Amino acid sequence: MRLARVAHPAGVAFVVVDGPPDSEDQLVAKEIVDHPFGTPEFTGREWPLGQTRLLAPILPSKVIALARNYADHAAELGNAVPDEPLIFLKPSTSVIGPGAPILLPPSSRQVEFEGELAVVIGRPCRDVAAENAKSVILGYTVANDVTARDLQRADAQFTRGKSFDSFCPLGPWIETELDPSDLSVATELDGEVKQDGRTSDMVHSVAEQIEFISAVMTLLPGDVILTGTPAGVGPMRAGQTVSITVEGIGTLSNPIQSR
Ligand code: MG
Repeated sequence: MRLARVAHPAGVAFVVVDGPPDSEDQLVAKEIVDHPFGTPEFTGREWPLGQTRLLAPILPSKVIALARNYADHAAELGNAVPDEPLIFLKPSTSVIGPGAPILLPPSSRQVEFEGELAVVIGRPCRDVAAENAKSVILGYTVANDVTARDLQRADAQFTRGKSFDSFCPLGPWIETELDPSDLSVATELDGEVKQDGRTSDMVHSVAEQIEFISAVMTLLPGDVILTGTPAGVGPMRAGQTVSITVEGIGTLSNPIQSR
């Protein structure tokens, strides 16, 4: 099932996106009562997906991200792979949806894309054992962990470089039926392939990440975990478009603009 949040002619709604998977023009957005957690109840209103605008599929209370969770990416930045998961936070205010512009802040000269598989949490939880991780997952979406690399390096920690408004595109929707263990993660910049990795190359699996993070902090419904990026990260310039595709989910595209 694909869960999305859309702007439609009468407002904003959570919807289930239905229809044949390979014909975008036949997709229908079916409005859900209240929220996307649990078995969806439908209001009966629906729109052709093309007559709506996809928004970030969820508004998380927090976004937790993994650093250096692919060995080839750690190596390209000259970092060792940490023994334990290395985590950082991105603020909820960094989240934007598909098609919304990534805004380059004037304080950075090196804003980079990081294509990632994102996990969306489905219920409040703490101290989740890896073998139970699946039970707390609502589904999966695509993320761009946008990073001001020069500011990240200058600060020797992550907060400023990872936290500008618009630095966490999410979408196009949440796929609830997916095995995350071996999926292609690919990033294109203006149609040129820049990243082409597989989730099977993660150092710490999704289940291990949930065990580690939930031992630190309570996870709430809608919280998002960015699972790390494969090799190939690089800078984006105003006027370009960045597109990230995760196999089994879809493509998240965003234009780049100066702020
Ligand atoms: Mg990242």
